[in-house]
Amino acid sequence: MTTPATASSLFASLTGHDPEGLWSAPGRVNLIGEHTDYNDGFVLPFAIPQRTVAAVGRRDDDRIRVVSTFADEPVEVALDGLDDLFPTPAGEEPRVPEWAAYPLGVAWALRGTGVVGSGLDIAIASDVPVGAGLSSSAAIEGATASALNDLWAAGLDRTALARIGRKAENDAVGAPTGIMDQMASMLGEPDAAIFLDCRSLDAVPVPVGILEAGLAVLVIDTRVAHAHSTGGYRERRASCELGARMLGAESLRDVSVDDLDRARDLLDDVTFRRVRHVVTENQRVLDTVRTLREQGARAIGDLLVASHASMRDDFEISVPELDTAVDAAIGAGAIGARMTGGGFGGAAIALIERDEEGAVTEAVRAAFASSGFTPPVVFTVIPSAGAHRDS
Ligand code: ADP
Ligand code: MG
Repeated sequence: MTTPATASSLFASLTGHDPEGLWSAPGRVNLIGEHTDYNDGFVLPFAIPQRTVAAVGRRDDDRIRVVSTFADEPVEVALDGLDDLFPTPAGEEPRVPEWAAYPLGVAWALRGTGVVGSGLDIAIASDVPVGAGLSSSAAIEGATASALNDLWAAGLDRTALARIGRKAENDAVGAPTGIMDQMASMLGEPDAAIFLDCRSLDAVPVPVGILEAGLAVLVIDTRVAHAHSTGGYRERRASCELGARMLGAESLRDVSVDDLDRARDLLDDVTFRRVRHVVTENQRVLDTVRTLREQGARAIGDLLVASHASMRDDFEISVPELDTAVDAAIGAGAIGARMTGGGFGGAAIALIERDEEGAVTEAVRAAFASSGFTPPVVFTVIPSAGAHRDS
């Protein structure tokens, strides 16, 4: 069954009738620009073909009920009760099952902007791999936010809906992530990456021409699950904030590559390396956008490789499986490769000649096998459309 059909039939078995409509939003990969979003910097993600679908219908009472193919039980609360659930205090678990905090958090965040509306039934199905760094979280937020925007006649634009999704993720789930994933999922376009300034939220589509150039983007899902609401992600954020404060900058966006010598004198070694990653990564995003426009995708390989090295050595968010994926892909002739997403697990991407897909995939599989790692899931993606109503 297709994902929309699965969402529809899940809705029908929950309610006994058809949904009013289907809304969907994609996962994303990030071509380059990692951990720069919450530093007011630059990112270059694109939406992928895998999507999360929400089948939704209004109720004639004030209750909201959510169900997902990923969960055993529906979760039901009164709309007025959402304010008792959220925000989830920092470091605590949500008071509903974590998955339900995403769609319920979106409803809560929308109501927080003054939007009012009836109760809802929401059934969710997805073919975005969950917890793989491909942003199934932004996909579930984007699908839900799009549905509620229509059914509650909220009239918000895509950027405002991305902010609603981020608020759900930050304050209802308790994951201190930036805005990149939600913006990519809301604003994605076929054959374009989205060049996003995370300070102004200006988003410019940059054509990548992957298909015309005979290239492909391979995703290597290491199947090492990551969790952003815990540990390392929070620590990296704190280091960035400390670095910016010590350098007298509002955020690391305002620190340039030329400031790094001064930063080295002022900061302890760990904070300096965290700062150096963010500062050089921002520059790499700008360089990648320029290179794509002037020379095309085949010319961005070195920037991807440099980005991975910076995340591995300076930001220290890679894991052996991600390094193995990147090294094996490059060794088998990939143009460039890097881990994508927040790190500590998840997926890597490799930019390859399309006719080398088999060879690169084989090399990655062999490298995982000889290291004794769980076999990776490997597939190609193309830049795809953002959130929309399906029917
Ligand atoms: P990623 O966004 O990289 O996939 P996250 O940890 O940010 O990883 O988000 C994954 C979490 O999002 C899951 O553990 C689950 O709580 C929630 N989630 C994502 N998709 C679904 C879905 N279709 N149904 C229910 N929960 C989902
Ligand atoms: Mg996520």
